[in-house]
Amino acid sequence: AKQEGRNGFQFYAQDMNRTSLGDLLLENQLRGAIERGELELHYQPKVCAQSGQLESAEALLRWRHPELGLIAPGRFIPVAEESGLIVVIGEWVIRETCRQLAAWSEAGLNPVPIAVNLSAQQLCQPELTTQVAQALAKSGVSANLLEFELTETMLMRDIDRSLSTLGHLREMGVSLAIDDFGTGYSSLSYLQQFQVQVLKIDRSFVNDIRVRGADGKIAAAIIALAHSLGIKVVAEGVETEAQHRFLTRHGCDLLQGYLFSRPQPAASFAQQLATQHSG
Ligand code: C2E
Ligand code: CA
Ligand code: CA
Ligand code: CA
Repeated sequence: AKQEGRNGFQFYAQDMNRTSLGDLLLENQLRGAIERGELELHYQPKVCAQSGQLESAEALLRWRHPELGLIAPGRFIPVAEESGLIVVIGEWVIRETCRQLAAWSEAGLNPVPIAVNLSAQQLCQPELTTQVAQALAKSGVSANLLEFELTETMLMRDIDRSLSTLGHLREMGVSLAIDDFGTGYSSLSYLQQFQVQVLKIDRSFVNDIRVRGADGKIAAAIIALAHSLGIKVVAEGVETEAQHRFLTRHGCDLLQGYLFSRPQPAASFAQQLATQHSG
């Protein structure tokens, strides 16, 4: 539909499938954000449902914009996807995660595995496996400290290619998780073929778990399904004690959400590593 912009500037955002002026400005500034050192990773803990121990974490991208402050990925990843910048940004995320893991080890900390989100475009890049191998080799980080989170929709887009790429990553020793599980359209028969070790229950199903726990049927079903296939389960977006109890009672392996911790800058996550893993 034709829309009237704030200064009377007319554009046809939907009709022409073009990005808005604001997005174009953001895209221009995003080019070069890596070189200027404006991107950073924050780390959100995943804790063992039974013990509450820190088990692993997810790396979440942030852009420290000189004027706009810290920008969440929901604002700039779509721009990065549309412009193709996501490929170089995603490559940086892999290198930075490995660099950070190595730095923590060097500082005498005992790092936990870190999960990195992959975009569909990265998965389509034939160079992905080489990039991962190089990032691991250069940092000296063990492959079992690296995990990738991929969505069902991404994997189903080009099944043959996905199977081959994921196979290579598995051979390297990297582990694989399906993100936002239950929201896409993957065929259950592919779950085993994709060699995933982890399913992440989408936040919407965790959100369904209310005080009496009567509404968590999908979450419970996903846990049972995953376990029957020998796959571990992470629940994301855990915000309440009721959700915590329900998920633990149903055997969910790991929990992630604001109830335990928000995503944190590297320095404060390192403090958590130090306290959880001292001695
Ligand atoms: P996601 O992979 O599903 O990540 C989980 C999102 O849920 C994160 O938002 C996290 O901060 C948020 N979250 C965690 N716990 C809670 C909770 O208890 N309640 C609520 N309401 N939210 C919670 P964030 O950091 O804004 O990231 C949004 C999305 O951006 C991610 O969703 C992911 O799809 C994408 N993203 C983030 N980093 C990267 C990256 O390095 N590469 C790519 N390709 N995508 C990324
Ligand atoms: Ca994720
Ligand atoms: Ca997710
Ligand atoms: Ca999500």
